[in-house]
Amino acid sequence: MEKESRCPVYKKCGGCQLDVTYPQQLSYKMRTVIGLLGRFGHVEPIVGMDDPLRYRCKVSRAFGFAHGRIVSGVWQSSSDKLTSIDCCALEDEQATAIVATLCRLAEQYKVRTYDQRTGKGCLRFVTVRVGKQTGEILVALGVGREKCPPLKDLAAALVACHPSVKTVVASVSTDRRNLVLGETVTVLYGDGHITDRLCGLDFTVSAHSFFQVNPVQTENLYRAAVEMAELDGTQTVIDAYCGVGTIGLIASRCAKSVTAVELNGAAVKNAKENVRRNGAENVRVLNGDAGDFMQDLAAMGETVDVVFTDPPRAGCSREFLTALTDMKPRRVVYISCNPETQARDLRYLTGNGYRIDRIRPFDMFPFTKHIETICSLSRK
Ligand code: SAH
Repeated sequence: MEKESRCPVYKKCGGCQLDVTYPQQLSYKMRTVIGLLGRFGHVEPIVGMDDPLRYRCKVSRAFGFAHGRIVSGVWQSSSDKLTSIDCCALEDEQATAIVATLCRLAEQYKVRTYDQRTGKGCLRFVTVRVGKQTGEILVALGVGREKCPPLKDLAAALVACHPSVKTVVASVSTDRRNLVLGETVTVLYGDGHITDRLCGLDFTVSAHSFFQVNPVQTENLYRAAVEMAELDGTQTVIDAYCGVGTIGLIASRCAKSVTAVELNGAAVKNAKENVRRNGAENVRVLNGDAGDFMQDLAAMGETVDVVFTDPPRAGCSREFLTALTDMKPRRVVYISCNPETQARDLRYLTGNGYRIDRIRPFDMFPFTKHIETICSLSRK
């Protein structure tokens, strides 16, 4: 798809960065990974999408007021102007429709949009999460400090228009630039969370949960990661940087035991809930820094067979890597959203007792520059 010719706000929106056909995007990503990781071994063909459109199951939009109407879009980073977006080829269609309905209902219920300059008004932004497998939808509204009494009515009217919406929440958000929900969430409709299913397991998704935005590719990624670990039911496993416990839970079905570690307290809470929901008795979840956790284990002389690591863009900390090589797990599966820091960490691991078995890129975000890679390593 030639993006620019189809999307009227391609340049202003900033959501897409690759204005070339999908096969060209995949070869660009392949070349990038070969450039960064090719010296460590053969890079297997990138796993792309059969249909690279409508993959985003999480959609966030800011609300504004223009020409007497409530509109939704993105704030321009350089100014206080809102670029209005009516449709986006990357978004789930239901999510786009829900945002449009919200604009219409806000007018009908006379809910004012928030004014960045005066701090007056109510409606700031919305995040819609669509559970692709279950069909359940969560709508989270970011609102200003001002009281807006008709919000509950608006939520009920939204559900009447879109019965797949299982819950609507609101949260006061004061950050001027960023569309992030405040800590306290008020439930306007439903019970504040939805369920989605990945690789046959149920996950609780609430307004603050971290959850991948492209469910089709997430399943492909997790399946490949667990397959590369070559588990046979006898191994002890660590899932480092576990988020809401997805990889550890999927791996637990063919492992002896899994210890998952995560820094973010809210994600840990979700992970524990997910362990309970899925009856995974061989999984425990710990709250803490992955590097500290590994160092403590190494200091106690503990051993483990397989380590999954899925760090944020900054990669693994040096403390994490040194403790890992001290513990000498037989296999490491490193999932990365930044091949540059992964290259740095692979240099350390290959210099300290590990050999690289497989490298495989995944396209989780078509039309953007983001690249995900899995690399499996084993002890020399
Ligand atoms: N494996 C998960 C999450 C990956 S995102 C999934 O696939 O969904 C990276 C995660 O690392 C985030 O949840 C983030 O909160 C967590 N994190 C960041 N720094 C960390 C640290 N120092 N120790 C442990 N977890 C950390």
